[in-house]
Amino acid sequence: MTSVVSKSRSALFTCLLLLLTCARINAQAPDIRVRIYSLQSVKQLTLSSLENISWKTCVTCRARSLATPLTVQANGNQLQYGNSKPSKLYLTGKYRIQIAGEHALESRYPLEVSAKDNVLVLILSMPMEDYVAAVLAGESGNFQSEEALKAMAVVARTYAARFRGRHKAENFDFCDTTHCQDLHLSAVTDRQRAAAEATEGELLWFQGSPAATYYHQNCGGTTAAASEVWPDVKANYLQVHTDPYCVRSEHARWESRISKADLQSALLKAGVQIPTGWQSLQVESHSRSGRVQLLNIIGRDGKLAMRLSASTLRFAAGRALGWNQIKSDFYELRISGDEVLFSGRGSGHGVGLCQEGADGMGKLGKNYHEILAFYFPGTVLGISAQGVDWHLLHSEQLDLLTTGANPSPELLNAAESALHKAQTVSGLQLTSHPLLKIYPTLAIYRDSTGEPGWVAANTRGNTIRLQPWELLQQKGVLESTLRHEFLHMLVEGNTHVSLPLWFREGLVLYLAQDLGKETTRRPISPTLSPQQMEAALRNPQSQQQMQQVYASARVTVASLVARWGKAEVMQWLGRSIPAGALASLSAAQAAQH
Ligand SMILES: [Zn+2]
Ligand SMILES: [Zn+2]
Repeated sequence: MTSVVSKSRSALFTCLLLLLTCARINAQAPDIRVRIYSLQSVKQLTLSSLENISWKTCVTCRARSLATPLTVQANGNQLQYGNSKPSKLYLTGKYRIQIAGEHALESRYPLEVSAKDNVLVLILSMPMEDYVAAVLAGESGNFQSEEALKAMAVVARTYAARFRGRHKAENFDFCDTTHCQDLHLSAVTDRQRAAAEATEGELLWFQGSPAATYYHQNCGGTTAAASEVWPDVKANYLQVHTDPYCVRSEHARWESRISKADLQSALLKAGVQIPTGWQSLQVESHSRSGRVQLLNIIGRDGKLAMRLSASTLRFAAGRALGWNQIKSDFYELRISGDEVLFSGRGSGHGVGLCQEGADGMGKLGKNYHEILAFYFPGTVLGISAQGVDWHLLHSEQLDLLTTGANPSPELLNAAESALHKAQTVSGLQLTSHPLLKIYPTLAIYRDSTGEPGWVAANTRGNTIRLQPWELLQQKGVLESTLRHEFLHMLVEGNTHVSLPLWFREGLVLYLAQDLGKETTRRPISPTLSPQQMEAALRNPQSQQQMQQVYASARVTVASLVARWGKAEVMQWLGRSIPAGALASLSAAQAAQH
């Protein structure tokens, strides 16, 4: 009796794990949502199709193709094209965005367009490693050393893991400016992509959490402690230390002359009114690293008129006169007639990694581990807080990445057999060599993929990311999870972009069941219409709802197979579902009601 109970429990768990895996693949939750053109106040854009573009104005709406370019405007909080005023636009496929005064941008990341206060909001969903490569293009375009580029890839990724969702209230994770991390989507080079790939998933950890990996252009020879810039950031690894590697580079020293009148008007624009006829500007105090903290403004009468923080002065001058005027708070100053002469060091806030120093270290032959250890002392590099290394196991049919030095041959056998079964039952062939990445612990899997613990695996492109296999084996779901993920890979690799999600999901579940190893379920009639299933898959609400949707999708595909034959239904993958087949479905549904 006991064994029956535990068996049925484990079967239920299987089903939950599997079903929810699907939900997450479609929701693409781990992707980073980035707002592009955040600073440009875009009022109008033109979208044109480069390849298989499909667009719609609501999640449940029918996807359309794009024959001629579509020009969209912001109208209050609505979008407008022709006479239509939808609130959103969803786009997939490869497309070009044209905005007046900007270079055209080509992209294949899913795009969401909406409007707020007459400005268009464009949000891309990017896989983490693509995001990292685009940050390298934006922030480290002039790096010469490959190792420094790898160090920056880890820093950019860790920053993203640590601060993800900082624009959550606006419905995206990061903007594309230096407020978050600067992106340069159209300038990503193979070198930058290679640096992201070479360090895939690696983060810098401190006491079990991703570190706050700030960075700047040049520290001028001494880094700043985080607390100097952000008093509430407590991080032992962001301390003052000397940096011998950046002092000979371009931004190590700078000079600047700014007229008193320009400084006064720059401050006024920033809302700071200083007394007219002021005589002098003096440094009142320095931070621990030697950067200017407070400044005194001496009035006409030779007495202290007001006090100003160095950052207020730098931001005011930056916005009004350009950011190359006062590049850092690391300076000495003197008054000469009507001008203030600044003699400074470094560029940026000075906290964390010094980019020119990192490049200098790389050119001296230091590797990225050494570079990161120098700028973030006390942190641990790795895919987990323990700093684990990946090992690659290559076989004819697939590649396996694990953290164990001696991965079990059992695992490779299980993977190869699951792939073989998935190919046999579907009659489909893989379009690329799959990579199975198996995480050593549930916590690391969650941190690296962004998936909650109840999602057994996540598949994107040719990579399947899997929970610790021992864990899946204990639950008795290793084989079924692998088969399921391979079926997804096969189906997605052979699917026409316009095919609805419910069909893709339903087909995978149907084929998985066809393998005969799944729990046989009592036949049920589809409870949801294709439109209802599609809407739910686009926007999953609850575990319970997903179970219903998947059961319904599987049964719907099963009834299509019963009516048209499996060979015919498999053919639709590369084309579309014939209208007649869908009509037969709704007739059958109508008959039931
Ligand atoms: Zn931001
Ligand atoms: Zn430096």
